[in-house]
Order: sequence, then structure tokens, then C-alpha cells
Amino acid sequence: MTGPVLSMTGVRKVFGTTVVLDDLSLSVSEHEVVVLIGASGSGKSTLLRCVNLLETVDDGVIRLDGEDITDPRVNVDRVRRRIGIVFQSFNLFPHLSVLDNVTLAPRLVHSRARASAEEHARAMLDRVGLADKASSYPDRLSGGQQQRVAIVRALMNEPRLLLLDEITSALDPELVGEVLALVGELRGQGVTMVIATHEMSFARQVADRVCFLDGGRILESGPPAELLDAPRDPRTRQFLRRIA
Ligand code: ADP
Ligand code: MG
Repeated sequence: MTGPVLSMTGVRKVFGTTVVLDDLSLSVSEHEVVVLIGASGSGKSTLLRCVNLLETVDDGVIRLDGEDITDPRVNVDRVRRRIGIVFQSFNLFPHLSVLDNVTLAPRLVHSRARASAEEHARAMLDRVGLADKASSYPDRLSGGQQQRVAIVRALMNEPRLLLLDEITSALDPELVGEVLALVGELRGQGVTMVIATHEMSFARQVADRVCFLDGGRILESGPPAELLDAPRDPRTRQFLRRIA
């Protein structure tokens, strides 16, 4: 009935003379989890940054719930309020407590009352097992805990779409599991996500659809069992062999 949450059509992004996204099209339905895989430099981060309007596209259209967000007249803040993004580096404010990190944007940007924002934040932290860390500062948390706080922060506005860019790449191996488990829970709650990752076992578990990026194009896409176990394109095969 309803259209896609995200639709990218013919998106092109150029840095200098490098074509980073090349006539790229991608559509993501509500509750769908799309995982982007591909070699370093294939354009995964740029794709996510274009969706969050951290980059402007050189051609093509990106729609969020049908609205053309690449229209130069679009209100960037209003669009970003509907999209959550989490990066590899946790980007928590070191001088703010966990609770203040999580409630800063709702209070400042969305002028939400402190009490209401904090009540919501405490409930969210409780859900991810971090209720007892609300008044801690980021440097007292493990990397996995910091990244879970960053995810809670991205969810505070109840975004239509959550973008995750290599969120476990900076973590010690023993901390990866707790972050991926949280993403799995979000999937269970129906959060629509686009995820760039190097973790193929995670891609297999969480993805409805895996897209293989190569030179700024989606070379091949499909359900994880198809794309990861029976890739059709020789370049997809080569990539999967290399990282196996
Ligand atoms: P991935 O996330 O898949 O590793 P990126 O989207 O980060 O790929 O990068 C794709 C290409 O774009 C790379 O060749 C990278 O060097 C280039 N690139 C990314 N950001 C910039 C930038 N701000 N200026 C110039 N080149 C960039
Ligand atoms: Mg990247």
C-alpha cells in the first residue's frame, strides 16, 4: 500500500574527477533491513552520507517517504530529524554524561522539555541494558557500551530510517557481539535500516537484502542466502573469497 521509506534513483556523486556513486538506485521498504557490502572505497559511506544530506548529490533523486530530499529548497534539519545515523567512531560528547548525550538533540533541536526527554532517554537506556550508566561519562564506558549509547541517541527522535556505518569496526572483537545483538533487536522491532558492514555473518543474520557495491554501483543484490552463498557476478565472488 504505502511506498518505500527510502528511494534513490540515478544518484551520482563525484569528488573531483572520481565518480563515487554512479547512477545508483536503491529502494528500501518500511521495516526492511538492507545491508551494503563492498571493498573499502566502493562508496558505502558516501551513499549513507548522501541520504543524511551530509553530502549533496550531483545527479539523481533521493526520496524519504516520497519527499524529494535532494531538492535544494528542502529543510535539512527537518529531514535529519527523520533519519538516525551512527558512525564507526562513537562521536559521543566526552564532557557530557550519557543522559545528556542522549537528550541533547531532543532538548536543543526539538525544544523538548528536559523532564520528558530524560524520561524517554532513561526508558531507552533501560531497554538496552544501560540504565545504570545514565550519569556516567563516555570515558567510563566500554566501546560497546558507548556505541550502544550512540544508537540510543540516534533513536531518540523515533526516526523513519536508521543508517549504520561500520558501527563495529572500531570495537575490540569481544565487544562486537553486544552491539550487533542490539541491532538484531531493533530489526525485531521493525526499525527500517540501511547498514554498511564488513561483518558477513552479521549481514547474513540481519539483512533482508544484501547489496554488493563496486565502484559506486550496486553490482548485485539479493537475500543473504543468495548473494552470500551463490553470488552471480564474478566480482562479488572475488570479494567474498577475499574476505572469507
Ligand atoms: P566506503 O565507505 O565503501 O569505504 P567511501 O564512500 O568512504 O567508501 O569512499 C568512496 C570513494 O570516495 C573513495 O575513493 C574515497 O576516497 C572517496 N571520497 C570519500 N569522501 C571523499 C571526500 N570528502 N573527498 C574526496 N574523496 C572522497
Ligand atoms: Mg565507509
